[in-house]
Amino acid sequence: MSSVNCPGCGEPLDTRSRNVTCGHCQGRFRITALCPDCAEPLERLKACGAVDYFCNHCNSLISKSRVAFSASPE
Ligand SMILES: [Zn+2]
Ligand SMILES: [Zn+2]
Repeated sequence: MSSVNCPGCGEPLDTRSRNVTCGHCQGRFRITALCPDCAEPLERLKACGAVDYFCNHCNSLISKSRVAFSASPE
């Protein structure tokens, strides 16, 4: 599973939710899912409790293991 590190302290952040608070430095960040192919923001689709990601630019479904996450301060 891909992950993203806290821009403030470098600790791994939980990418399962859209907004996270770093457990280490208490910084608050917004998690953005990016397409690994074109780097466009992905649309988050929720189905049956699972989360899928769809790239409107590539017109394809991106499996979570390939998603590139980025964290930006709120
Ligand atoms: Zn942190
Ligand atoms: Zn794409």
